[in-house]
Amino acid sequence: MELKNLIHADAIDDVHIVFKCPHHRRITYHRHGSEKSLCNRHTHRSSHCEHLEDYYLVIDDDTVRGTIKNNRILKRSLASMERLHAKQIKNQNK
Ligand SMILES: [Zn+2]
Repeated sequence: MELKNLIHADAIDDVHIVFKCPHHRRITYHRHGSEKSLCNRHTHRSSHCEHLEDYYLVIDDDTVRGTIKNNRILKRSLASMERLHAKQIKNQNK
């Protein structure tokens, strides 16, 4: 069996996939490009963290569709990202 480093994405918006990394004393989020897709997927990325190897980011139903800024979910981003996500799902199923 292939071993994968799976990391659950905490949030995704039209620019970034974001996860909170536990390997730091200060609260640290690492960001990767989302390629404008908010859809569920696994996506392979080179590590942005000196404590980790390459990993697969897991975007699933528990990943918040919204922007994280100053270590918090930006509440006003939620509605528009949810709309965009719904639109993308609809287009996928065409
Ligand atoms: Zn890290």
